Amino acid sequence: MPRPRRCRWVGFNPDFSYFAPREWPTGEVILKVEELESLRLKDLLQKDQTEAAKMMSVSQSTFHRILTEARRKVVDALVNGKAIRVYGGDYTLRNLCRDCRSEWGDFAERCPNCGSTNIFYRGRGRHGRGVDQNL
Ligand SMILES: [Zn+2]
Repeated sequence: MPRPRRCRWVGFNPDFSYFAPREWPTGEVILKVEELESLRLKDLLQKDQTEAAKMMSVSQSTFHRILTEARRKVVDALVNGKAIRVYGGDYTLRNLCRDCRSEWGDFAERCPNCGSTNIFYRGRGRHGRGVDQNL
C-alpha cells in the first residue's frame, strides 16, 4: 500500500512567482513551493540539514531529495536561460508567533517558544492565493 504523502511545512508564502532572463527565455522550469523553501532554509538561512528537514516535517533523505531537485532546476534555468515559475507543490504554511517570530507546524493554542497567544494561523497554502500575507 502506498504511504500517504506527508505534507511539507513551509515557513513563508512566496511573494514573487515568476523569474525570467531579460532575453527571451528558452523554456520554463516549475519550482515547487516546498523546493523553494528547501533552498531558503538550507542555502539562504544556512540551517543544517537536520534542522531544515525538521522544520519542513520531512525525513532528511526526503529533504535532500527536494533540495537536490530544487538546485538542479535553478541551475538549469540560469545556465540554459529558462524562466522559473514558482508554483504548486504539496505544502502547509507554518504557524507564526507574532511576538517572538517562532514558526511551528502543529496546531497549538500558545506559542511553544514564548507562550504567547498572539498567533498567526496560516493554515494550508495554495501558492500565492487565498492566504493572509499581512504579517
Ligand atoms: Zn512566541
